[in-house]
Amino acid sequence: MKKGLLMVYTGKGKGKTTAALGMIFRALGHGFKVCMIQFIKGAWRYGELISAKRFGELLDLHVLGKGFTWKSKDIEKDVQAAREAWRFAKESINSGKYQLVVLDELTYLMKYKMVDEDEIVGFLKSHPKDLHIVVTGRDAPESLVKIADLVTEMQEIKHHYHSGIKAQKGIEY
Ligand code: ATP
Ligand code: MG
Repeated sequence: MKKGLLMVYTGKGKGKTTAALGMIFRALGHGFKVCMIQFIKGAWRYGELISAKRFGELLDLHVLGKGFTWKSKDIEKDVQAAREAWRFAKESINSGKYQLVVLDELTYLMKYKMVDEDEIVGFLKSHPKDLHIVVTGRDAPESLVKIADLVTEMQEIKHHYHSGIKAQKGIEY
């Protein structure tokens, strides 16, 4: 590997997590060992969780976060889960086992101050040189944008949700 990149997919438009999944699919084709950590657990049974099993040892997918904090009944537990998930992410990054690590919805941990922004950005800044990292989530903080090698903002032009079309299997989950 020439240079491990820190890449960020942010913005309000749809396509951040799926862009990361697309990159995972590409990397797996080259035999990369990949780890994806989902920091926010949705209500659905996500297709990627089922697909991951098909890639066996090459792809480790962990859903470590709780639900959406603003809907939570027990914020303290969510914060605890977020901190443990971040600790696990750091271990995975430092393990040397992977060529690509995806930190899905990591930005929310910073936005809702569940984990200190400086701590996260400081750690990512000095990530292993032979590892690619992808971070997804809305509202990427300026400090993360600053240290990233690539930042793409998904812009919403239209979304079917606003026409009353609810989440569908294979598209949203
Ligand atoms: P996806 O997982 O489809 O790539 P995403 O990661 O860009 O979407 P998130 O911000 O993580 O989007 O939002 C999670 C869920 O909200 C997804 O099911 C997604 O389809 C949906 N969503 C994304 N953008 C919008 C939007 N602008 N309006 C309504 N729903 C949206
Ligand atoms: Mg997402």
